[in-house]
Amino acid sequence: MLKMVVGIKWVPNTTSVNIDPKTGTLVREGIPSVVNPHDLEAVEMALRLKDEYGGRVTVITMSPPSAIAGLEHVLGMGADEAILISDRAFAGADTLATSYVLAKVIERLDYNLIIFGQETIDSSTAHVGAQVASWLDLPYIYYVTHAELRDGKLLVRRSLENARETYELDLPALISVAMHSLNPRRVKASYKLRAKLENPIRTWSNQVLGLDPECIGLRGSPTALSKIEMVPKVPRKNEVFRGDAREAAKWLVEKLMEEGLLELG
Ligand SMILES: Cc1cc2nc3c(=O)[nH]c(=O)nc-3n(C[C@H](O)[C@H](O)[C@H](O)COP(=O)(O)OP(=O)(O)OC[C@H]3O[C@@H](n4cnc5c(N)ncnc54)[C@H](O)[C@@H]3O)c2cc1C
Repeated sequence: MLKMVVGIKWVPNTTSVNIDPKTGTLVREGIPSVVNPHDLEAVEMALRLKDEYGGRVTVITMSPPSAIAGLEHVLGMGADEAILISDRAFAGADTLATSYVLAKVIERLDYNLIIFGQETIDSSTAHVGAQVASWLDLPYIYYVTHAELRDGKLLVRRSLENARETYELDLPALISVAMHSLNPRRVKASYKLRAKLENPIRTWSNQVLGLDPECIGLRGSPTALSKIEMVPKVPRKNEVFRGDAREAAKWLVEKLMEEGLLELG
């Protein structure tokens, strides 16, 4: 039976994030949060495997308590249970400290497959999957677009620019789903209702986990972000030419020459 653990991150919806022009830091206040969209693809892959072979899907997130809304969303998609890993002691974690806590949580679960998204939309390091696999000493494949079981092994496909690779993995293993490869299913009212009635969300603080304060949060984080500099916005003229292709090409060449961007020899 597949016993899957899926990691999701609760992220500020970066389409609406602003930067404080004085400090150069993200203004998070009042910004709505969402489940990292690429992690919904990881949930989708787990649910497809469950649909095909049966099994169980446990979703975990290390986050402030507001992430409960995200966990409710994935339970509404069909996940079986969820764990919110939340404690002030985890705040300020870099990717190493984040992956350490996630690995320690997963170690306590009965699992044979871990599924992560490719990367997040707010930090985009794509470190966490590889790091969790290293902590747990597991085989790890990235950019997975398809997974299936064959003779007790996991067969995964990954698509590269000019090739398609297939790997055969012994379980337990960890995979990261290639972004934009799956279309996450919608939330079902009946699953949401079941989640409300059964309340399958547990919260684990560091009182439960008992991790060494030197290995978590800011103290367990060897990297420090020293500065964020915004790339200046380039003003666009947004000129539009309407007409036939020949006229358009002539107009474009003239415009580029006017701007000194093109010289005809
Ligand atoms: C010095 C420092 C301090 C920081 N302080 C803070 C802070 O105070 N608050 C803060 O929010 N961020 C902080 N960060 C950012 C934080 O390190 C990252 O958000 C976190 O480690 C995940 O990295 P990522 O978003 O690049 O994930 P990626 O590596 O891009 O994520 C890959 C996949 O891993 C899984 N995943 C990632 N994060 C989680 C998670 N938390 N729970 C479950 N699954 C997950 C998802 O499936 C995701 O698709 C800090 C970073 C640094 C360097």
